[in-house]
Amino acid sequence: MINVLMFGPPGSGKGTQSVTLAEKYNLLHLSTGDMLRAEIAAGTELGQRMEAIMSSGELVPDEVVIEMIAHRIDTTTGKAGFIFDGFPRTVAQAEELQTMLQERNMKIDLMLVLEVNDAELMDRMKKRALVSGRADDADESIINNRIAVYRSKTEPVLEFGHKAGVVSIVDGVGSIDDIFARLCTHIERVI
Ligand code: AMP
Repeated sequence: MINVLMFGPPGSGKGTQSVTLAEKYNLLHLSTGDMLRAEIAAGTELGQRMEAIMSSGELVPDEVVIEMIAHRIDTTTGKAGFIFDGFPRTVAQAEELQTMLQERNMKIDLMLVLEVNDAELMDRMKKRALVSGRADDADESIINNRIAVYRSKTEPVLEFGHKAGVVSIVDGVGSIDDIFARLCTHIERVI
């Protein structure tokens, strides 16, 4: 089993690239953002509790996403591994994931870090806002808050990855195909 973390700021292309990487390498794509939006769409009690937090651009509590991820890991069969998209987003989540994987005789094999400058991120998020229908894409101040939350709470996870010796930095600017090819070379190193 290989476990890949897709890491980078909002708008860096994690979701887009994770979907095609998951297909190519038979990995299960685990996006905590997608799982949470599905809870909201289904009108569950959890979804209702998380909706306001998500639409402000803040992070939901660590326990909520950790529980979702643990459940998916334990109920998946027939896959070559997992690609985690938008998780872990705090150092506590990263530590918990590492423990969870170790308990199941697995590890974090690779952390792919998509690097995209702020001007390009803003540009992409504004374009995505026109089509995504996401409340947290619709307003520039919420987008700015998501980037600020990324810098303060999520970026420290990079240090965790460096300590674990699993970080690969990838230039996230260019055509989708070129970025995909760059990511594949790193995955093929750990397979
Ligand atoms: P995303 O689709 O990954 O951009 O996530 C959308 C929103 O869902 C985030 O702004 C958070 O409010 C919430 N969220 C998604 N993943 C996590 C996570 N790992 N930890 C905390 N909150 C999350």
